[in-house]
Amino acid sequence: MGLFDVFKNKEQKQQAAEKLEQSLEKTKKSLFSRLGKALVGRSKLDEEFLDELEEILVSSDVGIETTVKIIERLEKRVAKDKYLNSAELDQILKDEIQQLLSEHESSGIINVELPESANPFVIMVVGVNGVGKTTTIGKLAYLFTQSGKKVMIGAGDTFRAAAIDQLKIWGERAGVPVVSRDMGSDPASVSFDTVQSAVAKGMDVVILDTAGRLHNKVSLMNELEKVDRVIKKVIPEAPHETLLILDASTGQNAIEQARQFIKSTKVNTLAITKLDGTAKGGVVLGIVDQFRIPVKYIGVGEKIEDLQLFDKKAFVESLFAS
Ligand code: GDP
Ligand code: GDP
Ligand code: MG
Repeated sequence: MGLFDVFKNKEQKQQAAEKLEQSLEKTKKSLFSRLGKALVGRSKLDEEFLDELEEILVSSDVGIETTVKIIERLEKRVAKDKYLNSAELDQILKDEIQQLLSEHESSGIINVELPESANPFVIMVVGVNGVGKTTTIGKLAYLFTQSGKKVMIGAGDTFRAAAIDQLKIWGERAGVPVVSRDMGSDPASVSFDTVQSAVAKGMDVVILDTAGRLHNKVSLMNELEKVDRVIKKVIPEAPHETLLILDASTGQNAIEQARQFIKSTKVNTLAITKLDGTAKGGVVLGIVDQFRIPVKYIGVGEKIEDLQLFDKKAFVESLFAS
């Protein structure tokens, strides 16, 4: 069975779409209601509108680089001062944003099947404190079990006792075993134990939590590097996925964190959390546009089922849905 067969059910798909739209409510309100106002009564793409659009996109955390690209595309597409009504402008803007995002091949197709050869498939979850690593691990474990996979979690954030307990609670909710040791243990050795135990028990997926805060960035990166090195002793190809978690509500900080982590770790997929309850959802457009690393998941709430596979087209659709 495919990994996300759970999404192939039409009803669930519909529910997911509704949940996404609902969680983008605040972003839509700030970004697109202002856009709506800017569009009202427009009959052409003039300088005034473009300036206003630029201001709206930048202040909605889309980011300056991506904003400039969107504006340039609009200018190229629409002959200056050509007559257009506001609905047409709206449609063109949506098209151009979708096109821009779809240009990135690497972030286009997300492989949701687990490769046959990975036994188990190891996911190392990284990111700074508070972005939603532990929560996302719980949700992911649930997603995988829903599609019939055997999952094991490793409590690699050994810095705080509460972090270990929190992960255990998520393990219980998802119904999957959590390998842990006492607070202060070596994260690399917990991760090693987890992967080894998962191999012995014939698990399909291993998800490793990691710490997000060390007293400096270098020690965090060293710790992650060590975890990476040590689990390769069990499975040379592991981790198959290094998933960086970014918190949408931090806006441009999320972009800066992505930059830092991508520079110093082997991040190959991204998850963007907390899209619900923030008006900064526009940052997703910037992240997809600026990094060659696919956004695979989005977090749309605090509950176990509030993790979705990211679909660029559906995302932009939801942003523009009235
Ligand atoms: P970690 O420090 O990176 O492990 O972050 P946690 O998983 O402990 O999450 C920090 C906080 O963010 C918790 O209160 C979570 O409930 C919350 N959180 C995580 N993901 C989401 C999300 O998608 N939506 C909302 N609203 N809250 C989230
Ligand atoms: P302070 O800046 O001197 O107060 O140090 P911290 O309280 O941040 O950290 C104390 C010790 O714990 C240091 O040796 C850090 O390397 C270590 N440490 C800090 N944060 C983490 C973390 O998130 N995970 C792990 N495993 N160790 C940490
Ligand atoms: Mg955590």
